[in-house]
Amino acid sequence: MLLSRHTTRRVRVGQIEIGGGAPISVQSMCSTPTTQIDAAVRQAEALREAGASLVRFSVDTSRDVEALAEIRRSTTVALVADLQENYRLAASVAPHVHKIRYNPGHLQHHEKGKGTAEKVAHLAAVARVHDLAIRVGVNAGSLDPRAGERFPDRREAMVESALEHAKILDGQGFERYVVSLKCSDPAQTVEANLDFAARRPDVPLHIGVTEAGLPPDGIWKTRIAVEQLLARGVGDTVRVSLTLPAGRKADEVLAGQEILADIEAGRFRSVPPRLGRLRVVSCPACGRVESERFVDLAMRVREMAVDLGDLDLTIAVMGCRVNGPGETDGADLGLWCGPATVHLKRGSRAIGTFGYDEILARVREELDARARHGAEVQARE
Ligand code: SF4
Repeated sequence: MLLSRHTTRRVRVGQIEIGGGAPISVQSMCSTPTTQIDAAVRQAEALREAGASLVRFSVDTSRDVEALAEIRRSTTVALVADLQENYRLAASVAPHVHKIRYNPGHLQHHEKGKGTAEKVAHLAAVARVHDLAIRVGVNAGSLDPRAGERFPDRREAMVESALEHAKILDGQGFERYVVSLKCSDPAQTVEANLDFAARRPDVPLHIGVTEAGLPPDGIWKTRIAVEQLLARGVGDTVRVSLTLPAGRKADEVLAGQEILADIEAGRFRSVPPRLGRLRVVSCPACGRVESERFVDLAMRVREMAVDLGDLDLTIAVMGCRVNGPGETDGADLGLWCGPATVHLKRGSRAIGTFGYDEILARVREELDARARHGAEVQARE
């Protein structure tokens, strides 16, 4: 079964092409610190061998840039630099990669006096000189605050932010870009992508659910979104963002390939097994993870959630202090991990900081309190 797809323009990334009818590629991101070169190369090669067309690395410092230069010499896979908070590293990292990804929500952190359009123009100029593509990666958990203020509806804010950046790049005469609009909720991810695709059918879309979490739930969430988008002809490249130990990161690629193969064969499975009302969202980890205990913690929180599956709430477990604080705001209970401690929040309010050996008991107390409260409410009704 060949799905008909929107006719987007074709964007070249090294030897890979995205959009314009090119085969839908599966990509991934390295979860080891970029500066741990041997581990990063091992993981990039494992991802490439599993079939990843592109592998992304976090670039936060000039040490990451130097490491990426080494990594480039040791792998043939096309590389993407994720310029999280520091867009000014674009020029130094550009010779070592094939694409740069920036998040419109993070451009504000440096050179606060400069406008967004000027910063994007700089990125377009760097990309042009170095023969790179760009991804505008809009993320619901780290939205551009200006878009968040103007559009209180999160989906609308995501779409408007992506449209604004597409327009700025168009204004620079720069066409070699793709866009992603990701959220940890599959339904909102689908709506945002459909809305953007209706308004900019020419722009290739990188699709996926951010912080989908642990398998198998994380695979189901991504499958739901990818099936619904590709069935409507929307989507040109896919990432499955799973929380996995470093040695199993290639499972992301295998999951993406399986989803695509099923869709191609007409096997849609979007009525998933019961995911439970208690949702655990966790990030896929990247070079910014500060403790190896993060993945184990996410797994243990999920095991605890299985026991309490009838509670209707979302727990978010994030791997670092860069995105963790913002990306846990939308959850009922949020945990973000530092090197030796875990920060616990109720909504956007901090509860406290706990050791890795204390945090699970504290989360359990919170969940038990909610379960008791729910039972009391029910008894009164
Ligand atoms: S929350 Fe932090 S560690 Fe997790 S993927 Fe995002 S940036 Fe990386």
